[in-house]
Parts: sequence; C-alpha cells; structure tokens
Amino acid sequence: MSDPLCTALTACRKRIEAAAGGRKVDLLAVSKTQPVARVRALAALGQTAFGENYVQEALVKIAACPDLAVDWHFIGPLQSNKCAEVARHFQWLQSLDRAKLVAPLARHRPPQSPPLNVLIQVNIDDEASKSGCRPDEVAGLADLVQARPALRLRGLMAIPRPHPDANVRRAAFARMRHLFDQLRKACPDVDTLSMGMSEDLEQAVAEGATLVRVGSALFGPRPSA
Ligand SMILES: *Cc1c(COP(=O)(O)O)cnc(C)c1O
Repeated sequence: MSDPLCTALTACRKRIEAAAGGRKVDLLAVSKTQPVARVRALAALGQTAFGENYVQEALVKIAACPDLAVDWHFIGPLQSNKCAEVARHFQWLQSLDRAKLVAPLARHRPPQSPPLNVLIQVNIDDEASKSGCRPDEVAGLADLVQARPALRLRGLMAIPRPHPDANVRRAAFARMRHLFDQLRKACPDVDTLSMGMSEDLEQAVAEGATLVRVGSALFGPRPSA
C-alpha cells in the first residue's frame, strides 16, 4: 500500500487524467539508469511501455525480461551503427531524425516481427546541440518511412527546450501539435504525438500529446543525474 512506485504511478496517472479531459493519453515509463528489478516492479503494477536512451543498457534489460508483455521504446539519439540492434529488439523507435537511418532500420527488422513503430523526432526549438530534424524535413522523412513495409510511421516526438516560463514551453508544444495535424492530413494512420516529461506533462497534454514520457516522477531522481 505504501509502495513508493505504486504511489508514484497512481499520482502520475492522475496528473495525466486531470490534464487530458477524457482524452486517452498513454504513459511511457522512462527506465534509463533504472535496474531491471524496478522495471519488473512497475510492470507488475500494470505499466506496459518502457523507454530507454542507451542501446547497450537497454539490450541487457530487454534480454532479462523475455517473460514480460511490454513494449520497449528507443528514445535516445540513434547512431547509424546501432540501427540493427534497435530494429531487432525494440517495438518502437521515437528518435528517427535523418534519412540515412531509414534503410538500415528496415533492412534489419526481422521478417517475422511486426513493423517497427516509428516516430520522427523534431528539433522544435531549433537548438544547435539537440537531435531531431527541422520542421520542414518532416514530410520528406515521413515519405521515406512509409515506403518501407518493415516500418510503420506512427507520428512525431519532441523534447522542447526546458524553459522556466510555462507559456514558452507550451508554445513549443503547440507548434508540435500543428506539425502533427499537418502530417495527419497526409498520413491518416498517424496517431501518436509524444511530448511532455515529468516537469511539463500537463502543458504537453493540454496541447494534444497522446503519449508522455516520464522518468523521475515515477522512479525518483536518476542516480547519475
Ligand atoms: C530522460 C528522458 C525523459 C524523462 O525525463 P524525466 O524528466 O525524468 O521525466 C523523457 N524523454 C526523453 C527523450 C528522455 O531522455
């Protein structure tokens, strides 16, 4: 009853629900730096989607949980030499941001697996140091993904610049929502807008996020942070 993970999960779901106004919004538990035991504990509480940033760390956890019916999302910057492992072991890639990754991802997706779900990551605040494509590159990348039967385009992801003014952050989420609506006109199957984290999930959900990515609000501060 006083299990901190259970309390945190319930609190997080309540925050999402309060912001969503009856809309369905999914929760991705960001388990980077967390041990397998905490993934298992959260899965036992009903959490079914986990996000990882580092391929090597993730592969160890995925291999340790073959019995869990959960989806693994890769959400970190993707190097081209890691495409094969992401395509083989994950159900989702949220951080596709350049054309050269598309062919290796498709080539390495095992034929017996369902298509890899793909989100295009957008650098919505035009930050020099950040991953993500420019907003005007989304349509071209979307075409490339849709041309590959091994990949399934599901939508967009963004990590807006942290900003003390909630209105500034909210404006970035609104720009993402606009891009998402444009993409959906061209690709009606697209259904996922991944934005919002522990600090700002309310603003993201208010602007139309369908999936929020939450780490520290579930697990507590990360050991390495
Ligand atoms: C770490 C991380 C998160 C979760 O961040 P918190 O602030 O701990 O909720 C979400 N998305 C990405 C891409 C991350 O790297």
